[in-house]
Amino acid sequence: MVAEGYLPYGRQSIDEEDIKAVVEALQSEWLTTGPGVERFENNVAAYTGSAHAVAVSNGTAALHTAMHALGIGPGDEVIVPPLTFAATANAVLYLGGTPVFADIEPQGLLIDPAAVEWCISPRTRAIVAVDYAGQPCDYEALRRIASGRGLALVADACHSLGGSYRGAAVGTQADLTALSFHPVKPLTTGEGGMVLTDDEKLAERMRCFRNHGITSDHRKRQTQGIWQYEMTELGFNYRLSDIQCALGASQLRKLTAWIERRRQVADLYRQQLIDCPGVQLLHRFEGRSSGWHLLVIRVQNGLRDALFRYLRDRGIGANVHYGLVYQHPYYRNRFPQYDGCCPVAEQAAGEVLSLPIFPAMRDEDVLRVCTAVAAFVANSTLP
Ligand SMILES: *Cc1c(COP(=O)(O)O)cnc(C)c1O
Repeated sequence: MVAEGYLPYGRQSIDEEDIKAVVEALQSEWLTTGPGVERFENNVAAYTGSAHAVAVSNGTAALHTAMHALGIGPGDEVIVPPLTFAATANAVLYLGGTPVFADIEPQGLLIDPAAVEWCISPRTRAIVAVDYAGQPCDYEALRRIASGRGLALVADACHSLGGSYRGAAVGTQADLTALSFHPVKPLTTGEGGMVLTDDEKLAERMRCFRNHGITSDHRKRQTQGIWQYEMTELGFNYRLSDIQCALGASQLRKLTAWIERRRQVADLYRQQLIDCPGVQLLHRFEGRSSGWHLLVIRVQNGLRDALFRYLRDRGIGANVHYGLVYQHPYYRNRFPQYDGCCPVAEQAAGEVLSLPIFPAMRDEDVLRVCTAVAAFVANSTLP
């Protein structure tokens, strides 16, 4: 049920089945490191067609774990887009690596393979593609570049679980794919994340990293009747609990239906806004199906912030995704040289506005938003 009144830009869906699954987990033997973790991992692996899935405590931990598995360290450069959540680039910094920002293309605002090529140096180790708003990136071009230069390809698919690229589910395009299960994301565990891969060695390294760098977990030792364990590298406690995994497994059963509803909502927005002057929708790429995480419009003529205010004043939770990573004060101070490096992203960052989209949104909610946008445009002075 969505309360009347304020419409958030995104919202989780929780039903009785989810609640029952969490209660069952609470009543079970294992609250964490139990069989529910592997069950959820296997479910997501099967859904995406990836060989291995490693559950972690959030999407940021997933990116950190992925970067660690690749051995990123001081002196290494990792190419990332600037129009993303700061965590995409922060994960590189956690390991002492250097994020290098490649510009995006103007149609979908996704990392531009040509810009990636310009950013490559002898120190480049990996490319992180962000499936902004749920749209899969141009993985064929990115794979060609990565393979040709011996670079790892990582997908930040925190927006795009449930989408597909040329018929293959999101989760199988890159060497490592990071997911987030934050409440606004495609499915939620409260907080949560996962890394997908077909590489068994990388998966093993990630399972160790999320558990302090210790090679066995509590349940494995209990089953084997031993207490001994060894810490072989410096890891973290990035585990996801059985309680959270129970919720995730229950949520996953509804994901396909939710993506379909998001698509309908996006289609209705398109139908309503396609001819709206001064408002532009993201391009729909052939052969890619979106997870429809964000409904991003571009507002021309410097009117974005005024439209944001106008919608908020009317109880419509518009939002901005994102301010550019390298324009955050921390990045400005540490990497002043990046100012101006991505002109397409800089232009887009002043224009993007996310309108509400979530599975429980009703057609009348969409029409309410579109009516407000149209009224704003009609009252604005366009050149
Ligand atoms: C949400 C998000 C993250 C981080 O996920 P958390 O679960 O919030 O830590 C990373 N990258 C992108 C693109 C995201 O949207």
